[in-house]
Amino acid sequence: MSIAIAPAIEPGASCSLENYLVLPDRTMDGRIAAARLELGSRAVILGHHYQRDEVIKFADFRGDSYKLSQEAARTKADYIVFCGVHFMAESADVLAHAGQQVVLPDLNAGCSMADMAEIGQVESCWEQLVSLGLTEEQGRGITPLTYMNSTAAIKAFVGERGGMVCTSSNAGSAFKWAFQRNEKILFLPDQHLGRNTAFSLGIPLEECVVWDPFLLQGGATPERLRSARVILWKGHCSVHQRFLPEHVDKVRERHPGIQVIVHPECRFEVCQKADGIGSTEGLIKLIAGAPAGSKFAVGTEIHLVNRMGKEFAKENKMVITLDDSGCLCTTMFRISPQHLCWALENLVDGNVVNRIRVPEGIKHWSRVALDRMLEIA
Ligand code: SF4
Repeated sequence: MSIAIAPAIEPGASCSLENYLVLPDRTMDGRIAAARLELGSRAVILGHHYQRDEVIKFADFRGDSYKLSQEAARTKADYIVFCGVHFMAESADVLAHAGQQVVLPDLNAGCSMADMAEIGQVESCWEQLVSLGLTEEQGRGITPLTYMNSTAAIKAFVGERGGMVCTSSNAGSAFKWAFQRNEKILFLPDQHLGRNTAFSLGIPLEECVVWDPFLLQGGATPERLRSARVILWKGHCSVHQRFLPEHVDKVRERHPGIQVIVHPECRFEVCQKADGIGSTEGLIKLIAGAPAGSKFAVGTEIHLVNRMGKEFAKENKMVITLDDSGCLCTTMFRISPQHLCWALENLVDGNVVNRIRVPEGIKHWSRVALDRMLEIA
């Protein structure tokens, strides 16, 4: 790798992020590699599949939120630098060993889906379900489940009420686990993953009801809530929800024989039209296991699709996006090489910047909910 010479930085100003954001991309590779080398085994860099190429190439581990949460739990490094979004870094902090510190290179890297379930709204929902006699405060009646893509406060909420966290790869197992305990599930915060999972387990759509946090009783009648087996929080992923059934029709017209595979955060109608559904890791495995000459249109984040397009072209497989306009996770994109460089060089200097710390009370119950998920794996 050629090491570019970086512009000089004023002495004493090296820790300021502003000084980094004006630096050109071409100067970053050498500096990040040098800082990485200097930190050695004291730091581990985790990179989510949706990260841009300039960042993910420095990751020690690549994966989806589930795989990275497992890696975070295994690592012995002092610093876990998480190139992902805020809820992932929170989960890493919850699973971290004593003394480990988690760093998110840009604190603005949030998740629009996680932000759709605010703890006050979820507590209010639960109170209303209790007052309707559908559950007791500690969860006898309804098992609350939350997707990994939620804040630590929501994970703690479900942990304290007998529920667990799940990911897109183990949501089906989590549903089965939950139904062994209660007749109903409250699923947070992604209605699409919840609906797709319920349907795949044979639960008809009429037995799912959407809870709108901005309406009294979620906008549903007590009878509807009583008859439902799955209460779906009205949240979604702004990236995956953009894929439409028309996109499936169009890509099949343009590329006869192409296989459409999508993430379960996509709408029900899109998933029903698709040839395959899979978590991020699942989609990669589906393509990896296909014979040479296969063609895929993939409904997931554009950075991963483009990367798979390049990598699988070597095996004579075609991988394109399901939607030509491209679906970018703008919050994930906020982590730039400049942010990564700033975070690593600060660690070299002994400064832990952008540390993500989950308060102890929340940490305990989040850990309970995450441990239940790791146990069913
Ligand atoms: S892709 Fe969707 S769910 Fe994933 S981090 Fe981005 S906004 Fe959140």
